[in-house]
Amino acid sequence: MPAYDTNNIFAKILRGEFPCHKVYEDDHVLAFLDIMPRAPGHTLVIPKAPARNILDITPEDYAHVARGAHKIAHAAMTAFKADGITVQQFSEAAGGQVVFHLHMHVMPRHDGIALLPPASRKEDVTVLEDNATKLIAALKGM
Ligand code: AMP
Repeated sequence: MPAYDTNNIFAKILRGEFPCHKVYEDDHVLAFLDIMPRAPGHTLVIPKAPARNILDITPEDYAHVARGAHKIAHAAMTAFKADGITVQQFSEAAGGQVVFHLHMHVMPRHDGIALLPPASRKEDVTVLEDNATKLIAALKGM
């Protein structure tokens, strides 16, 4: 497996070199909205540790990401009046991974509405801002 690339886009977001619609941060993880959401409120939870995917992250850092995804999932149910949640994590190109800094996708789901295909369209910034506001408010209420 290739080494971790410190210039991947999520590493740049973590260093503040690239913007994101942040919804949650603690000592171990950052959560922000996916700019090409497969469902409204689609959020990515990433470790602050430099891990490429599940194959090189420590169990402890992976647990921090899982805890973050758990928090976002519960907040998203409220924020988006969701009926369910889909969590996904892809490792290596063969596993469907495109960005090589580990991330968990947390996608609010509604009955009868399919996920959009990956990277099918870039969401409007105003929609992302509105969805981030909803999620942050739900997180504050937890
Ligand atoms: P994957 O590596 O296949 O798990 O998916 C990478 C995800 O990152 C896709 O859902 C993209 O829409 C998303 N993505 C790529 N660049 C950015 C970015 N700058 N900000 C937020 N999400 C991004």
